[in-house]
Amino acid sequence: MSFDPVESLATMRHEFGEHGGVNMSIEASTTFTVMDPKMMPDLFEGRLGPDSGGYYLYGRHFNPTVYVLGHELAAIEGTESGYATASGLSAIAATLLQLCSPGDRIVSSKTIYGGTFAMMHDYFPERTGHHTTFVDVTDFDAVGRALSDGAKVLYCETMSNPTLMVPDIPRLAELAHGHGAKLVVDNTFSPMIVSPAQHGADVVVHSLTKFISGASDIIGGAICASQEFIRSLTDVHRGSLMLLGPTMDPRVAFEISLRLPHLGIRVAEHSRRALLFATRLRERGIDVIYPGLEDHPHHGTLTRIMNQGYGYGGLFGIDLGTTERANELMQTLQNTEHFGYMAVSLGYFDTLMSCSAASTSSELSQEDQRKAGIAPGLVRISIGYTGSVEQRWNQLADALDRVGL
Ligand code: PLP
Repeated sequence: MSFDPVESLATMRHEFGEHGGVNMSIEASTTFTVMDPKMMPDLFEGRLGPDSGGYYLYGRHFNPTVYVLGHELAAIEGTESGYATASGLSAIAATLLQLCSPGDRIVSSKTIYGGTFAMMHDYFPERTGHHTTFVDVTDFDAVGRALSDGAKVLYCETMSNPTLMVPDIPRLAELAHGHGAKLVVDNTFSPMIVSPAQHGADVVVHSLTKFISGASDIIGGAICASQEFIRSLTDVHRGSLMLLGPTMDPRVAFEISLRLPHLGIRVAEHSRRALLFATRLRERGIDVIYPGLEDHPHHGTLTRIMNQGYGYGGLFGIDLGTTERANELMQTLQNTEHFGYMAVSLGYFDTLMSCSAASTSSELSQEDQRKAGIAPGLVRISIGYTGSVEQRWNQLADALDRVGL
């Protein structure tokens, strides 16, 4: 199978601005006129809408600029439709709430972003009554067993945060569908690199805050799926996006849309540098985790499902054994060598690094961290592309010398 997200986006992207501008116009209106009052009920009941006649009603429901961004993201993921939301977590919450009725269960990878874990582990059981079984999604027997008592959703990340484990998405799609469940994949770590819907995922969610925005200046999210599912999210009676309201601002949608044409180039450069540094770190005897290294346990899986030309991703992990050692290295890298920043998040043009156990995975108890394979001294590094490669490598190597590694 050959799918190229860049080709797919270029085929779809042909929006002109209002006066023939080469960029689309920002439609800032929150409400839209009708020429005939009798059209209102049709708009409310979904007989008229952006996909049926090009009609708009109200900004929380649909906005033309946000609609275009949603369809550009859908083109990148190869799905029928898509919609952009105010954050990655709101995209995930809206998706799960739309797919689950009262009492329904979720099966999730036990290694996922801490905020998503907290939503399923703490928030949902108390607030919505949805319970989640956390499993190792590379253990197909365990996934099958967990799905067998009627779960509605199987959830995972294409590359797990922060352990960079890569589940076999085609196999998980088969398992989910065999048990009547939907496969939802968070593709935040690997836009362009993997297209989960091409391998059977029913819904692909994103935090646009990361690689897709690329500048650590915007919080945003996206849901890419069938037209039917996206429509259900905006239903005026039962739509999680329409009724819970995590709408993206059209000005933000415009900003993000202008960054998509160079997303592939950016991702390829993040990946090129991450592979180079990971290889050199390994040669130096450092315990580095990177799916692009041949001895990574899921190198073969990723190689099999990845799109050509975007590499193995911009993140790697270094296990320093203890939190103290991790902090010492990060401090030296930021404050002495100016290699990058000690900050959560990822996908920035500069390098960001954090000790996951003490930050973005701290929502997991120590026991859950242990089960998820998150070591206390694991430093997650999102490699940027500023400066020259040799300049950055020298900073990294000098920092390792300083901390005695
Ligand atoms: N998914 C993953 C894999 C993440 O790493 C994050 C945030 O770090 C999110 C979702 C949540 O995204 P947002 O912060 O845009 O709500």
